[in-house]
Amino acid sequence: MIYEALRKELRAKRHRMTAQREIVLRVFVNSGGKHLGAEDVYRHLVAKKYKISKATVYRSVELLSKLGFLRRLEFGEGIYRYELATQSDNKTLHQHIICKGCGEILEIDEKIVKDLVHNVMKRTKYKITDYDIKFYGLCRKCQNKINRNAQQNM
Ligand SMILES: [Zn+2]
Ligand SMILES: [Zn+2]
Repeated sequence: MIYEALRKELRAKRHRMTAQREIVLRVFVNSGGKHLGAEDVYRHLVAKKYKISKATVYRSVELLSKLGFLRRLEFGEGIYRYELATQSDNKTLHQHIICKGCGEILEIDEKIVKDLVHNVMKRTKYKITDYDIKFYGLCRKCQNKINRNAQQNM
């Protein structure tokens, strides 16, 4: 169980406030694979009437990512987002595509980018050990909105 692993890790590293860390981790477990910023987590907990300070939430997400429970993501918004590092349904490794219009973030199956990584290795003769690929664009909805606006302005 992920909470048991967290408790063990925190104890081993002599971190305090286990309960708070666990509450923060729980938000991610229950989010259904969302990519949340520390602010989102804080607002969610406040809405649920948890007594936890903003600083604790920020420190907790950072610690959880340092301990390997969360994966830190950066989509050029000037904030960090986080997601569970290990997902129950085996989709641990995936890349992201981000809509510049509405901010939607979709996950791209690793299989799709495998060829790309393979080609880069072939080209550069590097042995690639890690990568983080992001695609930016406009989702279907935002494309339609732009098309509609263009038609109205004609
Ligand atoms: Zn969009
Ligand atoms: Zn993701």
